Amino acid sequence: VLRIKLNDLITVFDGVTGEWLSEVTSINRDNIVLQIKKKISEIEEETDLWLIFSPIKLFRMNITIQKATELGVSQFIPCITQNTNQTKINMRNIYINMVEAAEQSERLTLPKLNEVVNLNNLLRDFPKDRGLIFCNENEKNLPNIFKALENKSSIFKKWAILVGPEGGFSETETEAILSISSTIPVSLGKRILRSDTATTAALFAVQSF
Ligand code: SAH
Repeated sequence: VLRIKLNDLITVFDGVTGEWLSEVTSINRDNIVLQIKKKISEIEEETDLWLIFSPIKLFRMNITIQKATELGVSQFIPCITQNTNQTKINMRNIYINMVEAAEQSERLTLPKLNEVVNLNNLLRDFPKDRGLIFCNENEKNLPNIFKALENKSSIFKKWAILVGPEGGFSETETEAILSISSTIPVSLGKRILRSDTATTAALFAVQSF
């Protein structure tokens, strides 16, 4: 959004060595040359927090990817469920959204982007040492994230948030999710949230916790 000029100072980062102050020493149509001046910050370790989400229509998926990157997701896992209506996923598009959100939020690392998995396989291989925070809008009286994690934080240090597609999870899927030992079912309140809202709200709560 801002046009840079010769001799401007800008910061650059590579996701590995940190963030660097640099000076623009030449600009032409095809390239720009920067001279690195000094390191201004080290990479900070992100919370180990996966987001397992069902691909949704492009506009809302872009929002999901951007917000989740800003809120510090360490890995995205696109997951196909019974009600997933968007099975073709443009990984390049997800990547572009991650980069833009990382730059915007001054996050110095990019989340990892997992290949697309099927819900059954995901549950079969789900690591035992990671809490699976299952956002479940169907069950009344589930605890909120703060309450639910209070009892679990001595067991798990790593987390994953699972949010369903626009049509939600089927009954069979819900049973399968509840059957694995890492699952922690939670409510995000009494209203039904859209997937992208549910993702943002859940991430904020886990990060605050
Ligand atoms: N069941 C609905 C809507 C699904 S909302 C339908 O029939 O269309 C999409 C996803 O957001 C859900 O699968 C769930 O993971 C999450 N979600 C939405 N509102 C929620 C709430 N109040 N509590 C927990 N999770 C919620």
